[in-house]
Amino acid sequence: MAQERKKIPLIWKITAGFLLGVAAGALFGPKITWVEPVGKIFITLLQMLIVPLVFSSLVVGVASLGDPKALGRIGIKTIALYLVTTAVAIVIGLAMGHLLQPGAGMAIEGIAATEGKAPPALAEVLIGMFPRNPIDAMAKGQMLQIIVFALFFGIAAILAGERGKPVLALVDSIAETMYKVTALVMSFAPYGVFALIAVTVSKYGLSVMAPFAKIIGAVFIGCTLHALLIYSGLVSLMTKKSPLWFFRGIQEATLTAFVTRSSSATLPITMRCAQENLGVSEKITSFVLPLGATINMDGTALYQGVCALFIAQAFGIDLSLGAQAGIIVTATLASIGTAGVPGAGLIMLTLVVTQAGLPMEGVALLAGIDAVLDMARTAINVTGDACVATVVARTEGELEA
Ligand code: ASP
Repeated sequence: MAQERKKIPLIWKITAGFLLGVAAGALFGPKITWVEPVGKIFITLLQMLIVPLVFSSLVVGVASLGDPKALGRIGIKTIALYLVTTAVAIVIGLAMGHLLQPGAGMAIEGIAATEGKAPPALAEVLIGMFPRNPIDAMAKGQMLQIIVFALFFGIAAILAGERGKPVLALVDSIAETMYKVTALVMSFAPYGVFALIAVTVSKYGLSVMAPFAKIIGAVFIGCTLHALLIYSGLVSLMTKKSPLWFFRGIQEATLTAFVTRSSSATLPITMRCAQENLGVSEKITSFVLPLGATINMDGTALYQGVCALFIAQAFGIDLSLGAQAGIIVTATLASIGTAGVPGAGLIMLTLVVTQAGLPMEGVALLAGIDAVLDMARTAINVTGDACVATVVARTEGELEA
């Protein structure tokens, strides 16, 4: 009988793909862009997982709670943690902007500050959460609407008692199958990661980044600090486990987020890492993580704080303390409204910038390097979701010892 080969852990292969990709991008430049389809296919495959995986696992998760009260309690804890970590992220972003002064000395002639524009009305956001047609919501990948429908469906299946059981068994089987599909797609990750990073490095080469090195540094250092202070702190305080255990457990998701620049596309991997490596129950991951991938964006919020200050400095505008407090509020709302797709944070930055009365030209200035900033912020967005899932699981007795 053939001896079983010792398997190389997937994360090593993904890391190798990443490093080789950086080298290939730097060495071959535009000549490497022929690998682009491989990266695009990888992202498409990840997107293919989202709707069936989120719907089926959320229904199973809600039904397994069996008690609407528990759902309410978990929901409140989750949302509170999401909001607090987001606000802290913006404060760290503003602090980085003050410390590193990324826009100082650029002295760009400002066109008069634009009029403040109101953020989207809360009522509109609330109404938009409810799907008129759940099939349409799934076809369009409207995450919040899918989450709301799955909550109804899971609770109703429990209320239906005996007669609800067959449908739950079917959805459970779909969820299990989708976990396997996720594992299959993940085995393709090293190649996808290689292609994505090679193309990015070839496009944005190191020299292009030089003038913006400071802002890139501010966002990257801020993101790292947020992870080291807030996530490490939360994990060790609440779970009594080492932060290293947490970061190791979630690293496949962090790295995938970094290269795909999409929280939504990374979601299946985040769920898998949280369940398999961190021991968070399916119940918790299936509720907390899809919600997080949709509304919790610590990295995006932090980036908006840094960028607002960068723009103010570059155009020589003084931001009062009050204006900065306003930025904390609008950036929290803007990050909630940011879709988990590449570049969405840049679009929402326009909201923060107009609200703070800063010139819109600043956003255009940042657009050129957005892909680089997006990598760091998406990695933090996803890691933050997993951190909250771990903490909530712990408080609910849903974390494996
Ligand atoms: N790309 C980010 C994400 O998917 C969103 C953003 O652009 O800030 O989490």
